[in-house]
Amino acid sequence: MIKIYLADLANDLNGIDIQTIPIGVGYVGAFCKKTFDKEVDLQIFRTFKPFWRKVCEAPPDIVGFGCYDWNAYLSLAAAELLKRNHPGCLTVIGGANVDVQPKDNKRFLQENPQIDFLVYGDGEKPFARIVRLFLQHQNEHDPIMTIKQTPVDGTRTLVADEIVMGSPTDSMMDLNVIPSPYLTGLFDKLLDNTKLMPIIQNVRGCPYSCRYCVSGSQTSKVRHFSYERLTAEIDYLRINAKNRILRLSDDNFGIIEHDIQIAKFIRNMFDTHKYPSILKAYSAKKLDKKTRQIAIILKPLMIMCISLQTTTPEVLKATKRFSTSARDIRFNLDFACKNGIKTGTELIFGLPGETLDSMKDVINNVMELHFDSIGISYLMLLKGSDLYRPKSRKEYQYRSKFLLGENAVTIHDDLFSFEIDEVAVSSKDYSYQDWLRFLRYQFLLELTHRYGYARELIYHLLSEGVKAIELFDELLDNKTRYPTVGRALDDYVYKCTGYMFDSQKELLKFVQSQINRWLTDKEALASTSRGRILFTLFVRYIFNDRRNGVLTDIHNATLNLYNGTEYETFRETTGLLLDLSIALMINPKEEFIDRKEYTAKYNVFAWIQERYRQPLSSYAQPEGMTFILQSQNQHSVTSAIASDKEQNRSDCYNFLVYLNSSLLRRHITGQVGSETKETLHRASPHISCEDQK
Ligand code: SF4
Repeated sequence: MIKIYLADLANDLNGIDIQTIPIGVGYVGAFCKKTFDKEVDLQIFRTFKPFWRKVCEAPPDIVGFGCYDWNAYLSLAAAELLKRNHPGCLTVIGGANVDVQPKDNKRFLQENPQIDFLVYGDGEKPFARIVRLFLQHQNEHDPIMTIKQTPVDGTRTLVADEIVMGSPTDSMMDLNVIPSPYLTGLFDKLLDNTKLMPIIQNVRGCPYSCRYCVSGSQTSKVRHFSYERLTAEIDYLRINAKNRILRLSDDNFGIIEHDIQIAKFIRNMFDTHKYPSILKAYSAKKLDKKTRQIAIILKPLMIMCISLQTTTPEVLKATKRFSTSARDIRFNLDFACKNGIKTGTELIFGLPGETLDSMKDVINNVMELHFDSIGISYLMLLKGSDLYRPKSRKEYQYRSKFLLGENAVTIHDDLFSFEIDEVAVSSKDYSYQDWLRFLRYQFLLELTHRYGYARELIYHLLSEGVKAIELFDELLDNKTRYPTVGRALDDYVYKCTGYMFDSQKELLKFVQSQINRWLTDKEALASTSRGRILFTLFVRYIFNDRRNGVLTDIHNATLNLYNGTEYETFRETTGLLLDLSIALMINPKEEFIDRKEYTAKYNVFAWIQERYRQPLSSYAQPEGMTFILQSQNQHSVTSAIASDKEQNRSDCYNFLVYLNSSLLRRHITGQVGSETKETLHRASPHISCEDQK
């Protein structure tokens, strides 16, 4: 029997940074165990310390590393230490970060001699082929060299500086030949860890080729596990997983008909058992009847995400990103609104050909569509993606800055490793100054629209013919007039740029200079990432500010930009929306009250239902109306707030990270007394898809 260890390592100086069950190595392990049964003794590891303890106690014959953006450097450092101490151990690396191009593979293997084999694409069969060869040759003088000289399908290796590779293997079309790592008990120990979120893979493969994305360079056929297998896994997790959140690893949930059945199963599970407490899933990028049906089924747990990234036609083309027509977007947004489904989109600044001016147009255009949530990020150059390659960098003249991956440091006796994120801070189409300006737009857009704290105020201004960017410019360029927003923006830019470095060497120096501090002050380590910077500012400027300074500044800027003739009415409706924004807020620092009532002299419910198309002033109700303000799903909100309390967190991490945008605030669900409407807009268990398209 040979010993095989599979390691998808998460950095852990400050607790585990990637808080998920390592599903990728789970599939490889389950398939290997099924193929070789008693010939292999196989174990899975999530962090370095237990892995290394086991290596020292019982040195392995083969180690497979799962290599992703969050652990690429740690995997290589662990493999280096392993090879130094156990040169007879065969090392294999696979996962999303492994490039498919032989030229890139050769350079990688030359730079990392501690790695014997690269596996790309579906890893189960290629890894099993390596294991089979090892079993055949294990008693020879140099089994590793013998195996390396044999071309193995789906793998690449280096012999005498020449690449040796087998044929590329086709995607595994029948995924059900891979046993479930959950149902076979491979993950039982990890499921006891409350911090590790279970992941289910429903569908494998993405048919698109977006150049900024790792999946885009590995375009593969879309395949799925069987309904019986998936529902058995979800039920197993309901009973056994200590972490109650569930993530679907699919790149496009809703892309195939089968997903509707899975959605129904999850919804029934939620209604009956309140499991999962929170669902994390990426919607299919192209919307059709299936995705709309799923949006209705999973209304309390998901939003309908129409992921745009940009709307600039030349940029979409250069990025190889498909485009969704404005007509389709509007149709789907109307559909969602009619059915009480919350919507969202995501944008990226820095894609090939995007300028700051074109990005401003994108923001204005997307705002006019009235999504419930708009997230925006800057372009990261991800290892394994097409834009990461030297040729693409040269073509677009990308210049980068480097920062530490979130919480991504591991220290243990002879091992010191950290992950490096790379941000494209300028290109031939935008300067560093443009990028800095973008950071300020980003903060405002995230605060007002991704997290939603001033959505209604801004849509109110838009309905008077003012563009979103005009409002943002007013806030950015007049710090003394809007002091709280000014301070928050300065803090954000200062902190974000303060942790970015021009070279990896400078980042290394910074990390080394901070290690002693981080060993005793773990929050200081966490606070270097963009996400945490944002959360800290939300806690300071939104949750802890009883004066509501940020919202008041936005309210004042809204008034200052008004150029109509009905100022008094506009002032009244703007004041109403400021009060409403405060009432809609769920403050995780305070006791959670699910339902509130709100009285206004305007029908704000109808105004939102009709997607802010007319000014609020045309919805006057002089006798007043009382509305119900309620969360989209009380259970998920309560469970996230409870997790923050249990973990004694002051940064509201679980609330801000795990809840989707529709769960962060209350919504107007109807008028007091109109219980039918309230029911419709909460969580209808029945599918009533009115979709005629
Ligand atoms: S961004 Fe989404 S759609 Fe595009 S390649 Fe990546 S996973 Fe596929």
